[in-house]
Order: sequence, then structure tokens, then C-alpha cells
Amino acid sequence: MARETVETTPPLTVFTEDERLFRDSVREFAEARIKPLVREMDDQARMSAPLIQQLFELGVMGIEVPEAYGGAGGRFFHSVIAVEELSRVDPSVGVLVDVQNTLVINALLRWGTEDLKQRFLARLASDSVGAYALSEAGSGSDAFALTTRAREDGDHFVLSGRKLWITNASEAAVFIVFATLDPSAGYRGITAFVVERDAPGFTVGKKEDKLGIRASSTCELLFDDCRVPRSNLLGEPGKGYKVAIETLNEGRIGIGAQMIGLARGALDAAIGYVKERKQFGKAIGEFQAVQHQIARAVVEVEAARLTVYNAARLRDAGQPFLTEAAVCKILSSEVAERVASLAVNLFGGNGFVKEYPVEKFYRDAKIGQIYEGTSNLQLQTIAKQVLG
Ligand SMILES: Cc1cc2nc3c(=O)[nH]c(=O)nc-3n(C[C@H](O)[C@H](O)[C@H](O)COP(=O)(O)OP(=O)(O)OC[C@H]3O[C@@H](n4cnc5c(N)ncnc54)[C@H](O)[C@@H]3O)c2cc1C
Repeated sequence: MARETVETTPPLTVFTEDERLFRDSVREFAEARIKPLVREMDDQARMSAPLIQQLFELGVMGIEVPEAYGGAGGRFFHSVIAVEELSRVDPSVGVLVDVQNTLVINALLRWGTEDLKQRFLARLASDSVGAYALSEAGSGSDAFALTTRAREDGDHFVLSGRKLWITNASEAAVFIVFATLDPSAGYRGITAFVVERDAPGFTVGKKEDKLGIRASSTCELLFDDCRVPRSNLLGEPGKGYKVAIETLNEGRIGIGAQMIGLARGALDAAIGYVKERKQFGKAIGEFQAVQHQIARAVVEVEAARLTVYNAARLRDAGQPFLTEAAVCKILSSEVAERVASLAVNLFGGNGFVKEYPVEKFYRDAKIGQIYEGTSNLQLQTIAKQVLG
């Protein structure tokens, strides 16, 4: 009997023609252009400048920037595809592209005046890296306890204070910076600004030496009476907390994408290795214990990926996604750590040496449970949604 065709919502993992073409082009780029550089960039803790230029040419640095401003005119889901595919090869490149799209451009698109959009979106899509500066030494999870001050001075604001752990800071030309106009007002004093690298009184400070994502720069920012034109205010004065909360809710889905890409990279490497490596006269992938470990990892990656795609597609559909974003970040980062750890085990001694790719995936995985809200903070968000 012929099966009746019923119209249903497409499965989460089925890509439109345009999503598939985009994924294939990013995947091809990652294999051909990034893979040969991964080891050297990690060793030197430096992102290749020509590679960044190529990322602009590929069109992944302004994914959601409308074509009218010189961008690719894509959707949030395209950013997720790009971050996942890049992170499958190098999670450091994944986070560079993630911060650019899901935090910096996202905040400008949502909160920027027409003037800010005109001045910054075309640059971000064509040649300028962006960074997003919220955290400080004394305010990480408790982000709104930040102490960087902003005061009004005629047609300028004057910023003073320090930011810590700012991704992309070495390469960035444009920084979204959060400061308080009135510490006594608590979170209602927090205000967002767009600060250019050459703003008077602004310097990029010490670069951190890290466990993982070493090619991604993480630096201190110093504001010493830094003058920012009033027209660079992002959103209303005192509403910076809204800018931060809303962009970070979306940014978390990007970190989920980074982590499922990383997990897939580690798993693909492990699958290739267990088919080749022989012990006791046969490929180690022929032992049932190894087969089950690989199968378990496939289960975990598949589950994590569905949560990431679901959160991203909810966001593009204009539906609430707060819980789903927290769920996808926590699950993907835990799965990434477990799968990368399994990959190291399955590579045996080779898993522990830098000649093979999996020790780096293992080091890179750890950050997923820390930045853009630690796992404890994600659990807090989820608990608040379900318990009220
Ligand atoms: C590589 C890297 C890149 C980063 N990039 C950026 C960036 O681009 N921009 C930016 O603004 N920041 C960035 N950060 C900062 C990052 O977001 C913070 O490190 C993170 O939010 C955690 O803050 P913290 O380090 O102060 O840890 P803390 O807040 O001190 O937390 C320490 C521990 O205490 C737990 N904890 C804290 N409060 C609670 C609570 N209420 N309940 C239960 N547990 C709690 C945490 O879960 C964690 O386990 C980056 C950090 C790193 C390491």
C-alpha cells in the first residue's frame, strides 16, 4: 500500500538547501585551510592573521548582518552551523566566529541605533573583529557587580576600570563594553558602549596563557579615562543589563554549537583510529567493549546536537528559548568533555601526545563549562524556570 504523504514540520537535523550549501562550504574551508594550522596556532597561542582575513572572505564574520550593510543576510542557525563546523577542526576558530556573530553583531543588530549600525556593521562583516567585555576580576558569575565606571562629560562618556578574560581582544577593532553609570543603582546603572580600539585612554592589556582554546586570545582591557562619544551608547543608559542578558542567552547556543563541533571532531578522530590501530591481532574497533564506547559517544553527541539545533531554531522562529539555551550549553559542554576524554583513552599513549589531535580537543573542552555562564549558573536558570 502506498504510504500517504503527510505535511509535517521538517526534522531538526534536516537542512534547507541553503543551509546545506553553507555547511559544506564552511566544512571544506575548515578541512583545507584551518586543519594545517591547528597545531602551530595552539603551540604559539596565536590566531593566524591571514586565516582571519580568509574567514571574512568566506562570509562567516557577518552572518546575520543584512545585505544592505554588506553582510551575508543569514539567520542565527547559520551562525550555529558555522561555529559547529569550524569547532570540529579548531574550537579556537569556532569561538572567534561565535563571539563575532552571536554576541557582538547580535547586540548591535538588536540594540544599535541606525547610526551605530551604519558605522559598525559593514566593518564587522568585512574586516573588523569584535569583542564583548562584561567580566571583571571581581565579577564573573555575578556579572552585574561590575565596577568599571562611566560618567557623562558633555557629548562624551568617560570610562575607567578594568575588564578581564576578554575573548578576541588581541585581534579586535570593536569592543562592546559594559560599565556602570551609577553603582548605587545596582544592575540598573549598567550601560553598554561601543568602544573602538584606538579610543583615547583604552588599552588592551595582558594576554592569558591558557589550558585550552590557546589560539583564541583572552586579555585584560584597561580604561583610563577613556573617552567614548555619546553616539556610541548601545541601548539606553541603565539598560545595559538587558543588552547583556539577552545577547548572552543567545550566545550560549553558540557555545553549545562549539561544543558539539568539538565532540564530533574528537569522535571522528576516534572512529578513524580504532579502525586502524591493531592489538591482539585485530583492529581495536573490533572489540565489543570499544564498539559500545563509540556507540555511547554517538548517542551523547546526537542528543546534545538536537538540543543545540532546537534552541537555535526556536530563536529563529521568535519563540522563547531561555531554558533550551541553558540545557543545550550544559549538555553539550559535558558531552564534549566526556567524548574528548574517551577519544584520548581510545588513542592510548598516542592520545596523550601532541602529534595526534585528541589531547587538544580534551584541553579545549573544559572551557565550555565555564564561559558565558558556568554550568552551575545554567542549572540555576533551568531550576528557576521549572520551580519558579
Ligand atoms: C577563556 C575565557 C574566555 C572568556 N571570554 C569572555 C569574554 O569574551 N567576555 C567576558 O565578559 N567574559 C569572558 N570570560 C569570563 C567568563 O565568562 C567567566 O570566567 C565566567 O562567567 C565565570 O566567572 P568567574 O571566572 O568569575 O568564576 P566565579 O563566578 O568566581 O565562579 C567560580 C565557581 O563558583 C561557582 N558559582 C559562582 N556563583 C555561584 C552561585 N550563585 N551558585 C552556585 N555556584 C556558583 C561557579 O559555577 C564556579 O564553579 C572568559 C573566560 C575565559 C576563561
